[in-house]
Amino acid sequence: MKMLQTRAGRDGLIAILVGGALYGLFLYIDIYDSFHEFMLQHEDWELDELITALLVVGVVGFIYGWRRHQDLRAEMRRRDRAEQTAVWYAFHDPLTQLFNRHYADENVVGELGRTVGEMPNTIFALDLDDFRGINDLIGQNGGDKLLQIVADRLRNLFPGDEIIRLGGDEFLVLSQIPFDGALEETVTDTIRRLGEPMLIGSVQVAIGASVGICNPREHATNMGDAIQCAELALNDAKQHGRNSIRVFDPALQEEVSKRIALEHALREAIRTDSIVPYYQPLITLGTGVLHGFETLARWTDESGAPIPPTVFIGIAEEAGLIADLSDNLLRRACIDALAWPKEARLAFNISPLQLTDRTLGARILQILHETGFPPDRFEVEITESALVQELAVAGEVIDELRNASVQIVLDDFGTGYSSLSQLSNIPFDEIKIDRSFVSSFETDERQMNVIKAIVGLSHGLGVVTTAEGIEELSQSENLKRLGCDFGQGYLFGKPMPASEVAGYLASSPWKRFE
Ligand code: C2E
Ligand code: CA
Ligand code: CA
Repeated sequence: MKMLQTRAGRDGLIAILVGGALYGLFLYIDIYDSFHEFMLQHEDWELDELITALLVVGVVGFIYGWRRHQDLRAEMRRRDRAEQTAVWYAFHDPLTQLFNRHYADENVVGELGRTVGEMPNTIFALDLDDFRGINDLIGQNGGDKLLQIVADRLRNLFPGDEIIRLGGDEFLVLSQIPFDGALEETVTDTIRRLGEPMLIGSVQVAIGASVGICNPREHATNMGDAIQCAELALNDAKQHGRNSIRVFDPALQEEVSKRIALEHALREAIRTDSIVPYYQPLITLGTGVLHGFETLARWTDESGAPIPPTVFIGIAEEAGLIADLSDNLLRRACIDALAWPKEARLAFNISPLQLTDRTLGARILQILHETGFPPDRFEVEITESALVQELAVAGEVIDELRNASVQIVLDDFGTGYSSLSQLSNIPFDEIKIDRSFVSSFETDERQMNVIKAIVGLSHGLGVVTTAEGIEELSQSENLKRLGCDFGQGYLFGKPMPASEVAGYLASSPWKRFE
């Protein structure tokens, strides 16, 4: 009785029933004969013309109605198709034709999502290794092509499974492959086949992938949690280098809980200004004179145990707190540094992620202006990896700062993967030789040669060098001999709070200014 569900269907049925009843009634009372007789009796009323006219109107009206009905059907078909296309676009990624994140949110996780019984056997979360680097190499169009090839390969590798592109280079496969002993081998094979070389334009590239695996029935009670488990496993895999595979382990969940607690504490610490700047002296090696201080952030947890900046800076970046943290520290550092001798410079670290923010330069200059700290005594330390990522934005920020007489220091030099073309493109004023070379150059000839090469390169580029991590007098002497301009390390002083700087300046053998 599907027909009765639409209004047109119901109207049609009523029309048939009423029509049938009238037809029966008219036959029964012999209406045609009576009417015929009536017409003959009233010849002068011209009823035959009227009937003929009504007949013509009926036929023409019927044809007209039928034509409109056809139009309506065509219009409905068109709308249906448009709606189907809209639904397709809402749930697919046009580039790869795979399902998109909205599909996962609505059809897999959301209210209309899967029940426990409908869960796939295995969930794979996949992320391409160093897609960003390859994208820079082959350009945006090349990157798009690469993603399309990867999508095709995934379709071949997981026939019949739902493959979702969560965004960027991250994919999710809801697979019917059983979660059993043979799985690891399957995944290794998948990574190998995904990584087969592909030709993009005239460049041959091979891309690796890391994979996190989750068994939804064992690790979760709903699809949202199951996908999160696969993603946690993926995160863990990515920390173990390229082409890594990790199966979800409940211990990962604990780590995440700890991290969430730490993030919460960090938020609170930033709000209450409990992360404070410490200052480590920078010395001119040639004269032994203090050159300035580098600002290093310090935070201790409730029990008084220090949390290393390498840990909380990373969390601040991921939680979107880095700008607030950095601005607070900078403001305090500028105010503290105003109390130092006029010659002393202030160096400040900027995390790679911050350099992707176009407003960074303006914000730094604004804080210098507000606090009254002279920009020409200020240095920004950035690591090489920052330059690798968003060269264009980083370049803009650097130009803006340099135009205001701020000096740019390339930090941790030798540890990132800088290219020489980058070094000549990005204007900077100083190179900081990483601690790892300094700690071993006296006994390791290769490290010594690296330092010599970096100093040579700096002189060639017309920039000065600072060596970090100097702990021994002999290191300081040797670095001076090699042509290094400035030094920093426990030999000259450990990072200290603002309150200890005055004492340091008064008593340290490195205090003099010339
Ligand atoms: P970095 O910029 O390379 O800072 C130098 C690190 O070397 C500091 O570690 C410092 O305490 C340590 N150090 C200095 N001299 C010596 C020495 O003679 N021997 C040894 N073994 N170590 C020495 P710290 O303070 O733990 O900072 C680690 C990293 O965290 C910094 O590396 C920097 O990248 C980052 N960082 C610290 N403060 C900030 C900040 O305010 N903002 C940002 N974005 N990053 C920060
Ligand atoms: Ca630094
Ligand atoms: Ca450094």
